[in-house]
Amino acid sequence: MMNIENNTSISIEPNLKNYASLTKSFDWNKERGHLDGLPGNKGLNIAYEAVGRHAKGPNKNTVALRWIQKNYAVKDFSYHDLDELSSRFANVLSSLNIKKGEKVFSLTGRIPELYIAALGTLKATSVFCPMFSVFGPEPIFQRLSKGDARVLVTTKELFEKKVKQLLDRLPSLQFILLTDEKQHANKKILSLSKLMEEASGAYTIPPTDPEDPALLHFTSGTTGMPKGALHVHGAVLMHYITGKYVLDFHEGDVFWCTADPGWVTGTSYGIIAPLVNGVTNIVDEEEFDAVRWYSILEQQEVSVWYTAPTAIRRLMRIDEIPKDKYNLHRLRLICSVGEPLNPEAVIWGEKAFGMPILDNWWQTETGGIMIANYLSMIVKPGSMGKPLPGVEAAIAEVTDSGFHLITEANKQGHLVLKKGWPSMFRNYLHEEERYKKCFRGDWYITGDLAKKDEEGYFWFVGRADDIIKTSGHMVGPFEVESALMENPAVAEAAVIGKPDPLIGEIVKAFVVLKKGTEPTENTKLEIIGFARKKLGPAVAPKEIDFIDVLPKTKSGKILRRLLKARELGLPEGDVSTLEQS
Ligand code: AMP
Repeated sequence: MMNIENNTSISIEPNLKNYASLTKSFDWNKERGHLDGLPGNKGLNIAYEAVGRHAKGPNKNTVALRWIQKNYAVKDFSYHDLDELSSRFANVLSSLNIKKGEKVFSLTGRIPELYIAALGTLKATSVFCPMFSVFGPEPIFQRLSKGDARVLVTTKELFEKKVKQLLDRLPSLQFILLTDEKQHANKKILSLSKLMEEASGAYTIPPTDPEDPALLHFTSGTTGMPKGALHVHGAVLMHYITGKYVLDFHEGDVFWCTADPGWVTGTSYGIIAPLVNGVTNIVDEEEFDAVRWYSILEQQEVSVWYTAPTAIRRLMRIDEIPKDKYNLHRLRLICSVGEPLNPEAVIWGEKAFGMPILDNWWQTETGGIMIANYLSMIVKPGSMGKPLPGVEAAIAEVTDSGFHLITEANKQGHLVLKKGWPSMFRNYLHEEERYKKCFRGDWYITGDLAKKDEEGYFWFVGRADDIIKTSGHMVGPFEVESALMENPAVAEAAVIGKPDPLIGEIVKAFVVLKKGTEPTENTKLEIIGFARKKLGPAVAPKEIDFIDVLPKTKSGKILRRLLKARELGLPEGDVSTLEQS
């Protein structure tokens, strides 16, 4: 696949002009100097960096958050507004005697109250934990109980449908704040709007140590219950620098991150990073819809767009070149995260938007982007790019008893990160042992397998748990899925290893066909033949099943382990994040 140079028609000099020289000279302390810190040297608080400091400066009246409602009506909140409203929320928590470190959960769609509650909770030095509003009662229960929730912000409807029935089992949950209820029902179920009206809009953030807990994000493991990754206020430095160097925020930018805050991307980049960098953050209340999304990019004059491979693949399925149909004159950067971005998709970006889509890699535990493609760097389609300046990533061989770094280029191993970047998670809540197991000495083991090429680019191979061992080869599902995606009949593909007595595992693919293609035996043979040519017979799938939709998490990740469990008739494990379509 050809490498691509980034030369969009919009000429704004990127913040990261030269990767090699910035990496060499990078200094965390110097970057920390671009944050304000709490007045009076009282520490570092995410919400102060995100709104407090801007509300006092030249960005006071800049639109911080533009909320697009389902009916397309738009409501703007300036930095001043967000600061004032989040202070009210912090005062509400004080009036309820909610203390530092106590957990405030949310269960709402993407409505302003969610963003206000997040910032207000951070101001109050309590810990914010956003949940997807589409969760059913059981995943909600697991998270509220495991996370020691004291307060839940939700809507009347979600409360009635999903939470009310759990209250007896949640004795520590002290307050339910309903966003759309005018009156308090009793001492426990309160009207948030009433409390907000009564609260003062002035609030002094208490001293905040950068190590004070700030955010709790649940992430599903392959086995067992979801884990609560705990993040601290100091993470804001990572949000700031990734906003600056990866998302390339400049004054006047209009940024749209399509992720829901129920997933870490929707918090780190759907709330914190754009605000810390003083740009305008678009929030769309509605779910994915191609026409709606293109219209938002056009109408809101989005300049930087951060989305996910699932969405991109859905857009690719529609035979349309958005740049010919919509006026996207301000769009100058598109980034993607969450899953491997197939080379096909990177290239499609060129055709559809006039720029390659820049992949980046990170995970709940890392709290912020760790490896990325940058505007000023040659793009190798299919590669995740290079580590952030200041972040050390490597490939390692990890066994039960051993650990050593692999220095040889292009050799597959565990993707590991050197401890100490500011947004590293500080624990799995109540699971110290599980946390400790993620580290070997100074290195954090990410659970992903990857390779690093001669030029320092990282290439995703697969989650360690998803790797297929077939006839002595280690096959990453991503390379097979990417090859399948190049076949014109294939809309999406997911690949698993199916146990086989002879060769260990056979490569099996689940394929969603493009509209208009018949799911016949001939189509199967044609796709298998195509894959054999691309990948060779050892790696190409031996079996293909056609499937209408791939099981995915609510954040858009293909649940390969679920396909495997279903294929083998095994228990499905934790499916709380499964998108029900
Ligand atoms: P989560 O913690 O739910 O955000 O999931 C993180 C995982 O998603 C990573 O460990 C990877 O397995 C996968 N992931 C995220 N971004 C990428 C990417 N750009 N390429 C490949 N896999 C990715």
